[in-house]
Amino acid sequence: MIKVIIAGFRGAMGQQALQMIKEQDNLEVVAVYSPSANAENAQAAGVEADTQVFNQLEDIKVEADVWLDFTTPAAVFENTKFAIEHGYQPVIGTTGLTDQQEEELMNLASDKKVGGLIVPNFSLSAVLLMKFSEEAAQYFSDVEVIEMHHEDKKDAPSGTALMTAKRIDKVRKAHEQGDSKETMPGVRGADLNGIRIHAVRLPGYVAHEQVLFGGEGEALTIRQDSFNRSSFMKGVKLAIEKVHTVDKLTIGLEQVM
Ligand code: NAP
Repeated sequence: MIKVIIAGFRGAMGQQALQMIKEQDNLEVVAVYSPSANAENAQAAGVEADTQVFNQLEDIKVEADVWLDFTTPAAVFENTKFAIEHGYQPVIGTTGLTDQQEEELMNLASDKKVGGLIVPNFSLSAVLLMKFSEEAAQYFSDVEVIEMHHEDKKDAPSGTALMTAKRIDKVRKAHEQGDSKETMPGVRGADLNGIRIHAVRLPGYVAHEQVLFGGEGEALTIRQDSFNRSSFMKGVKLAIEKVHTVDKLTIGLEQVM
């Protein structure tokens, strides 16, 4: 039995994860954490009566294997640090960690000999989009990334768009694309070594990404769509089950696929 703590259990992703784990024979939620949690709202959120409920990070003292985090960009660094320091293997779904924070957490995990996963996207289609984009960038070096999310998403660009751009950047020679002068600031999007990243926020959307490659008289578009949050749960389950196989804090679901 793999014992899991869910941080952010009252949120949209936390709720899906809680339900998914309750349906598995090999996984158990032993504790939940959220600053606004109490016994009543935890029960209303579907938490079992024998699961411990915490609203202060420092109060969490429970025997568990995995720390599953679906919180906020402002909370995820401290949460992950806490998990590593207490020997819980982190599976981090929350996006928004900076490069510097990731590096700090990786160093801490290595000191404490704790393996973990930072997963910018748990959907299989997004993992494949990144893989195919990396491959296409070897042939098409002119590329722009457009990500589209629901209007409540707190950070931009999405972790997946950023990771896609970073992976493309590793295989193509950095260069500017187009020489349009912006007559409206920001209209060309963010710039990662010449790769433009655009973020769309609209009601009705969940999580979607397009990678557009342009070449001599041709173009290639790679697109993935997550139409609902349950599409992430196969990946969440896999990450929880397989995180024990990684011996350092590492990035991407593909590490355990
Ligand atoms: P959400 O509905 O806003 O839920 C966030 C939850 O975090 C809230 O319930 C909130 O608790 C809780 N929270 C706030 N501060 C906290 C803290 N200091 N410690 C613990 N919990 C805290 O957001 P969501 O849609 O579930 O998304 C959560 C994160 O997952 C976001 O970063 C999002 O980008 C990411 N995400 C990742 C994937 C992926 O595949 N990796 C997919 C979708 C979303 P209260 O209710 O008590 O305020």
